[in-house]
Amino acid sequence: MRVFKFGGASIQSIERIKTTGAILKNNTQEKMLLVVSAMGKTTNALEKVAESFFNGNQNEALLLFNRVKQQHLDTLKYITVLNWQEAENRMKDFFTEVEWLLHDKPLKEYDFYYDQIVCCGELLSTWIMYQYCVEEKLNACWVDVRDIIRTDDNFRDAAIDWAYTKQKVETEIKNLFNKYDIVITQGFIGATDENESTTLGREGSDFTAAIFANLLEASSLTIWKDVDSVMNADPRQFKNAIGIPSLSYSEVIEMAYYGAQVIHPKTIKPLQNKNIPLYVKSFLNPQLPGTIISSTLSKKLPPVIVKKKTRC
Ligand code: ASP
Ligand code: MG
Repeated sequence: MRVFKFGGASIQSIERIKTTGAILKNNTQEKMLLVVSAMGKTTNALEKVAESFFNGNQNEALLLFNRVKQQHLDTLKYITVLNWQEAENRMKDFFTEVEWLLHDKPLKEYDFYYDQIVCCGELLSTWIMYQYCVEEKLNACWVDVRDIIRTDDNFRDAAIDWAYTKQKVETEIKNLFNKYDIVITQGFIGATDENESTTLGREGSDFTAAIFANLLEASSLTIWKDVDSVMNADPRQFKNAIGIPSLSYSEVIEMAYYGAQVIHPKTIKPLQNKNIPLYVKSFLNPQLPGTIISSTLSKKLPPVIVKKKTRC
């Protein structure tokens, strides 16, 4: 069993969804848990909805949310043929969850509303990805991760209840693998014991994927990105940046500590604890080897350059 994680860029358009689908089709040797983030810049758009709502601009919030809705409805319509009506009806339930809240007045703290609104991005993207798999006859199922990942109520940076989550993975996710080849679920979000939605911090989907890899004792985790591999510097700033074929867990933690934006810093520990290799690969060029992150110290690590922004 392995875990694949796809970020927002890999599903931001119909073409990209198809590219991602092709990767799934080419990787059927093992059962797979698939973690997906929100499409493109959806999380940023939903943050704006939360801000408008909290600032009392209800109409603006509804208008901004409408744009998110429309974009997802259009994508769903494009990729579904057989199952479209049913798929759209379910998608509308996700919208209703948010709209019901937007019609209220904010009485609680901002972070609470942020999580109830922003979590919708991952529910929508995974629903679309799942429908795509169904159309393509992949043997997949869709799971609301809020039924599995239990957190505390520290909204926007919630901490995982590992014991509860482990038990849910044992009793629910493992069972699904008896029936399905691919289990599709959301990155970045979870829920409290009172069924309130929570988020794990921006870019937290990598962490979700690592939690599942750990609890399922996966053979590997692959994070599919829009870069060919982990680089020794930001290629937008340094033309001569080169790819790094292999890194150790501790080297990645160190790079993240010094500010290199490699992967979400919380991702490494759950993998390191179970010695699960992490592959960073390009969804645009899946034939490239990418980077492997494991317990092995890399022999010829190039100098790693991190440019820090200074404030004047
Ligand atoms: N969608 C969330 C974000 O943009 C989580 C993620 O992408 O990992 O921060
Ligand atoms: Mg992302």
